[in-house]
Amino acid sequence: MSQLDDLLRDLVVANRILSNEDVVDAYGHISVRHPDNPKHFFMSRSRAPELVERHDLIEFDQAGEPVKDTRQPYLERFIHAAIFEARPDVTAVVHAHAEDTLPFGLIKTPLQPVIHSGSFIGGKVPVWDIRKKFGDTNLLVTNMAQGRDLAKCLGKGNVALMRGHGFASAARSIIEVVRLSVYLPRNARVQLAAMQAGKPIPLSKGEIAARAAGYRPRSPETWRAWEYWANRAGCGDMIGEPGAPGRHDSHEHGQSHSHGHAPKR
Ligand code: MN
Repeated sequence: MSQLDDLLRDLVVANRILSNEDVVDAYGHISVRHPDNPKHFFMSRSRAPELVERHDLIEFDQAGEPVKDTRQPYLERFIHAAIFEARPDVTAVVHAHAEDTLPFGLIKTPLQPVIHSGSFIGGKVPVWDIRKKFGDTNLLVTNMAQGRDLAKCLGKGNVALMRGHGFASAARSIIEVVRLSVYLPRNARVQLAAMQAGKPIPLSKGEIAARAAGYRPRSPETWRAWEYWANRAGCGDMIGEPGAPGRHDSHEHGQSHSHGHAPKR
């Protein structure tokens, strides 16, 4: 299989995982940057992630429009286009409405890492309020101007909350953005529970850095989570050989299975 085939397979698996772990339901989506054309990305047509199959995936251009495909895309595809545009280091993006994250979009107390598995949130999570710049809307990100404003709020971080709506998360690979999106609601749940009983102690900057330094994309520990989630989601037979799911940047494996194309980024 080519690198692109592997990535698209991983994108299908990621759709199923996010659904099975209750990060998304009928709504919410995940995308991956095109490995050979970094301005483009792949994402499903407008379909519930649990039901997404390989043939549902559409290629999108940098403006968030489908490339030679007339099927209905997700309305909020501009979240993905704008984050890919703003962040060359990002290769995978999730947008979801996970309920446990929503309170932190409404209050002054920031969502931040309070448990070890939440360390990859990175720090205090900014909240984007669409109303600040765009006034009264239906709260959906339906054009590039709104997407870019959200991407600006995300900045160099991994996740931004969207007031009254959900969150957008970004990472260097599919598995990293899946992991972040799965543990974000859990961290939020624990933080909220702790806030009801007292003042939570967040992870320190040093602890967050130590966790990040210990992460290896191709380690057995990383694969263990991917294999577990995929099997729980009923697609354990799709995941192929142990590797670095959905990862295609050049730092990790220059000689990889990319058929001799030099990485373009
Ligand atoms: Mn949404």
